[in-house]
Amino acid sequence: MQNNIKYLIAKLAAEHSLTLDEYALLIASSDAELDLYLAELAVKTRKDIYSNFVYVRGLIEISNICKNNCYYCGIRRGNHNCERYRLTHEQILECASEGYSLGFRTFVMQGGEDSFFSDEILCGIIKDIKLKFPDCAVTLSLGERSYESYKILREAGADRYLLRHETADKAHYAKLHPAEMSYDNRMQCLYNLRKLNYQVGCGFMVNSPFQTINNLAQDLKFIESFKPEMCGIGPFIPHHDTQFRDYEINKLKSLELTCRLLSIIRLIHPSVLLPATTALGTIHPQGREMGIKAGANVVMPNLSPVAVRKKYELYDNKICTGDESAQCKNCLEARMRSIGYEIVSDRGDFKN
Ligand code: SAH
Repeated sequence: MQNNIKYLIAKLAAEHSLTLDEYALLIASSDAELDLYLAELAVKTRKDIYSNFVYVRGLIEISNICKNNCYYCGIRRGNHNCERYRLTHEQILECASEGYSLGFRTFVMQGGEDSFFSDEILCGIIKDIKLKFPDCAVTLSLGERSYESYKILREAGADRYLLRHETADKAHYAKLHPAEMSYDNRMQCLYNLRKLNYQVGCGFMVNSPFQTINNLAQDLKFIESFKPEMCGIGPFIPHHDTQFRDYEINKLKSLELTCRLLSIIRLIHPSVLLPATTALGTIHPQGREMGIKAGANVVMPNLSPVAVRKKYELYDNKICTGDESAQCKNCLEARMRSIGYEIVSDRGDFKN
């Protein structure tokens, strides 16, 4: 094992911080033995705080209508082959109701930036969920909105907000998004959410087009300073109706790098809630198990109506699009048990 890298890992575990160059070295050092050492420390760190519990979030994909045109995303507005849908208030409540009876205590409403979902409409849905299921947390993942809007949604009862920063490098951001989208605004949204006392989630894709080791090191530096309560990272996977359709990904390398980054993020920020994402499960049949074994502690089974699941296609070959919610929950429960972890029916709030 390379001793200088081993030293960096030990330093990270002790101090929760490295320099940009040190992060870059760690990210670039592809060595199975080092990865095992990293994962071992990450798992130990997590165990002290969250035991062997894995928290579940029921994902409700409320709309695939989006005003944005992110170059990598299958539901970007410019994709005219995407069959659009939007769930009704009643459908969303039904998903939550089914989820509740399956033991879910967090519901994540995710979607494209669909202007139909005004503050008023969203508040009605949030309040209804909170009224029916007062012991549940509501997480929103609906993109960039104004400070005022985030404030109104927070007051209506939303507890958490997921907004991946996508990349902490402005020039890289500009290669993934059209000029009308702004890196500064996305970052400002994260700070606004923090100010409004949401539990906030940032995150990024791994091996996204044009991404360099240095970009990833910047992502880690950002996480170090922002200290998000949650952090969503998953491998980039091309979608056939985007300009990155022919971008080659090496699934094994992406899997390995994502797991390494999960371990590093766990060591930077021991109490962070870190999902083993669906994208990780998509590039490898045991991807989510591997993510948990690297230091993740959250899984997000799908609660969307089966009829719309295939339409919420951010990338190709997304898994679990044909299964009923109960199947998804049972499947993940069995997967977690098989590696010695236990799914808990709990809101799973951030522990300070
Ligand atoms: N509109 C919301 C939700 C976006 S979808 C928002 O702006 O936050 C959730 C995440 O999926 C995105 O933040 C992005 O990081 C990820 N994603 C999109 N396309 C992807 C792709 N091709 N491969 C992997 N992840 C992708």
